[in-house]
Amino acid sequence: MKIAILPGDGIGPEIIKQAVDVLRALNVGAELIEAQIGGAGYEKFGDPLPDSTLDLAIKSDAVLLGAVGDWKYDALPREKRPERGLLRIRKELNLFANLRPATLYPELAGASSLKPEIVSNLDIMIVRELTGDIYFGQPRGIHENENGEREGINTMRYSESEIKRIAHVAFQIAMKRSKKLCSVDKANVLETTELWRQVMMDISKEYPEVELTHMYVDNAAMQLIKNPKQFDVLVTGNIFGDILSDEASMLTGSIGMLPSASLDSNNKGMYEPSHGSAPDIAGKNIANPLATILSLAMMFRYTFNDEKNANKIESAVKKALSQGFRTVDIYSVGDKKVSCSEMGEAVIASLN
Ligand code: NAD
Repeated sequence: MKIAILPGDGIGPEIIKQAVDVLRALNVGAELIEAQIGGAGYEKFGDPLPDSTLDLAIKSDAVLLGAVGDWKYDALPREKRPERGLLRIRKELNLFANLRPATLYPELAGASSLKPEIVSNLDIMIVRELTGDIYFGQPRGIHENENGEREGINTMRYSESEIKRIAHVAFQIAMKRSKKLCSVDKANVLETTELWRQVMMDISKEYPEVELTHMYVDNAAMQLIKNPKQFDVLVTGNIFGDILSDEASMLTGSIGMLPSASLDSNNKGMYEPSHGSAPDIAGKNIANPLATILSLAMMFRYTFNDEKNANKIESAVKKALSQGFRTVDIYSVGDKKVSCSEMGEAVIASLN
């Protein structure tokens, strides 16, 4: 088992250290090799995705990534910015299926901004397409138009085959859960998503046990706040999924709790927290490492097919929470406030 470790920027190195310590404590004999991505890649090699990092990721069974980005890189040409490294590695590894579970741990019901009765026992899986849509479509850029005025262009596009493969992933996940799948689109105004809806309906014929429903993205954003427990599995495109999964994260108390898996068609995967590099709290040892540790659990489940170690990690996180340990983002009066590294230690102590 060879795992590429890419800490990245901001809080990335702090949270990755906790996940790596958990991985070592499991004693599974994994070979861990560290490399740079994002701003760290730019600093060392002048490239947010250095060739050596991409090569390592290709040759590894899985990638564990922290986060990329810092405001200090905002003035760089777009190709050199940290976020471009992340988009490129997803594309190069063909990681088209992004799984983002939003699960509310009972201990954190009070940390959610919604009333406990609306969010208690929440357990949603958002399946986001990750390598298409407006983030990759051509043409793109900022040009001068015929009136001499600057004009920004991005292109929303999906091919039928891209929609089909994410549809299969979502239907298969729905089959393993409550057999309810909601596809989110904007088919009333965007042709790309009109095709999305048609393909979802075509593929649903192969999964007659799954109840497929459709919802416009603006309504889905509202329903996630109004009555999130109506959902089980949601499937949507890249940009809508980006926004809805951040929204869903707040239902669980903090974006610091939300893991993610990005998979190719052979379940090779990159695992990373759903949040960014949080430059505002970087270097202070106060970030919540649980999203990264829970991403490691997803690695065992999806890439290594090792439910035992996945459950072991998730149970240890639950135990640390039930013992009252809280980083500042999920802290309420009466809890034990801990640092990033202390939370990592609490999880390791709960592993057995
Ligand atoms: P962000 O997710 O980094 O931070 C949003 C807010 O959540 C901040 O207040 C931050 O302190 C807090 N937060 C995030 N993770 C936390 C954690 N683990 N524990 C406690 N609090 C946490 O989003 P942003 O501020 O919009 O972006 C900051 C940088 O991250 C930008 O450069 C952006 O491009 C980049 N970014 C990277 C990724 C990624 O690497 N996958 C995703 C989103 C944003």
